[in-house]
Amino acid sequence: MTPTPLVLPPADDTAGWSSFLTERTAAPLAEAARTAEALRAKEPGTAQALALWNDLHVALANAFAASSLLSQVHPDGDLRDAAEAAEQEANRFRTALMLDPEVFARLEAVPREGLDDAAWRVLDDALRSFRRAGVDRDEETRERLRELGEREDDLAQAFGRHIRDGARTTRVPASALDGLPADYVEAHPVADDGTVAITTDYPDTHPFLTFSTDAEARRTVMGAFLDLAWPENDEVLQELLAVRDERARLLGYDGWPAFDAEVKMIGTGAAIADFIDQITHDATAAAERDAALLLERARLDQPGLERLDVSGARFYTEAVRRERYEVDAQEVRRYFDFTRVRQGLLDVTGRLFGLTWTPVDDAPTWHTEVAAYDVALEGAGEPLGRIYLDLHPRPGKYNHAAQFDLVSGVAGRQLPEGVLVCNFGRGLMEHSEVVTLFHEFGHLLHHVLAGRHDWVRFSGVATEWDFVEAPSQMLEEWAWDAGVLAGFATDEAGQAIPPELVERMRAAEEFGKGVHARTQMYYASVSYRFHAELPADLTARSLELSEQYAVWAALPGSHFHCGFGHLGGYTSAYYTYMWSLVIAKDLFSAFDPGDLFAPEVALRYRDRVLAAGGSKDAADLVEDFLGRPYEPTAFTAWLER
Ligand SMILES: [Zn+2]
Repeated sequence: MTPTPLVLPPADDTAGWSSFLTERTAAPLAEAARTAEALRAKEPGTAQALALWNDLHVALANAFAASSLLSQVHPDGDLRDAAEAAEQEANRFRTALMLDPEVFARLEAVPREGLDDAAWRVLDDALRSFRRAGVDRDEETRERLRELGEREDDLAQAFGRHIRDGARTTRVPASALDGLPADYVEAHPVADDGTVAITTDYPDTHPFLTFSTDAEARRTVMGAFLDLAWPENDEVLQELLAVRDERARLLGYDGWPAFDAEVKMIGTGAAIADFIDQITHDATAAAERDAALLLERARLDQPGLERLDVSGARFYTEAVRRERYEVDAQEVRRYFDFTRVRQGLLDVTGRLFGLTWTPVDDAPTWHTEVAAYDVALEGAGEPLGRIYLDLHPRPGKYNHAAQFDLVSGVAGRQLPEGVLVCNFGRGLMEHSEVVTLFHEFGHLLHHVLAGRHDWVRFSGVATEWDFVEAPSQMLEEWAWDAGVLAGFATDEAGQAIPPELVERMRAAEEFGKGVHARTQMYYASVSYRFHAELPADLTARSLELSEQYAVWAALPGSHFHCGFGHLGGYTSAYYTYMWSLVIAKDLFSAFDPGDLFAPEVALRYRDRVLAAGGSKDAADLVEDFLGRPYEPTAFTAWLER
């Protein structure tokens, strides 16, 4: 029997959502507990233990998916709180499970003979996870590890919650709207005191920083944006770093990055530092070239200016792109109407990967603005999964862009269901937002296409964590192709975006890539150094790292680290984005730039990289696709071009 998608309660049915939350969190957690009990009751040495381990993880994955998603997107604050409590329960259960010597012993005793490669991989992975949790330590150590694990989960959750709930509003003079698009000005009415309110939501902050000609107001708005969750997250982060460090050292590692990197492509903590310095070195010539141009341009407005700070970065990058490359973001956005872009994205990915997306208009969701689609392989009626697109901001909603799981797919048991959570405006989009949409959709595709394994461990985005951005970064390339864009980027009169304009957009985008790489290395260094060094003064260390890696001056008195949400989940591994980009550029080199839809290569990529999920090491998936090991050549050539 083919599994079917979940039926969600209607948006306004609060009681229905409350029971749904229980059904999808408390119930599977209870089932996971029963399965763990059954596992303990098994005679050591039975192969069936591995199947039970898989069952347990199917239940656990369901509890994690529903609680994590609903805590971030449900419009009802009480339900979000209940979901967060459920997520905490799931975390507690997992922490205790991974320190359970009896369950570990049953798995360790599974006979290897007769296991196929996949089962062998699942078993190895499980045993390694147990050892990394500390299951084989003495009781006192295990108890301390359990405390630390629980504390870490709570702190990471609080860190994210403070960012999510910390939205701020600043008031700036109405004249600061000079330079902004008409629809933006319209959406920001002037109060009696002559000011307008700008919130820290992306659709408010980003256009303002890009277009407002008022340098002082840009500084005010940027200052509020950089102070999200300050001061509350400073203390949370201090303790989080200490807890992670103690946990790693108790387990015999030289600090958190060494522990964390062990299960990633990069392998060791020291390699992170080397990677950051290598990229910094490679990007320096391009960064200095770009920065000189930007400063020269900024001096036309502010004669004698010595150095640009972050609050002017977007504005002057935009100015240079407009003046030098004749790319006017406001001219460009005329072509990106949200509804057409969303359809275009589905058309492009459908054509590329041989998929059909069917809107399920009558599917209830948690909010009326959320759109549901069923996806199937073209020509095969059988459904592959369901996706939900939740793409506009609202109060209390997760305020960045990310893919969430609703259900992890397991062959014959449950269909994969994934959710895209973004914060775009409802009218015209900036091209950078279109790129973000393609990026996040790449994660969603990965989740859905890899949803037909027997082992839930392989399901979806289940590769090493420093590979996960590569498929998404590669998909961004399709949002930069004139032929692709012509299919959906049309203005009100129905005119497609001219290929010459796309060419200029690409040239303009190339401008600034050195600066961008350096900024990314600043973020990566905060993520790595904070965990490696446990600085006593996070603000001061962050400023030092900004001086060392970023091109722009930091805003004095700002506290970027408090709103840097990635420190919660990515911990010391923010370098992941650049690491993945190196691989993404290599993957993309297999496609024909003259025909991005050439089916042979796209389908090979779909099947060997995406659909494979976590069934092999990422390096092997890439080699299966490319026919050779990955290499940095394409990336370096791009950076230096
Ligand atoms: Zn991503």
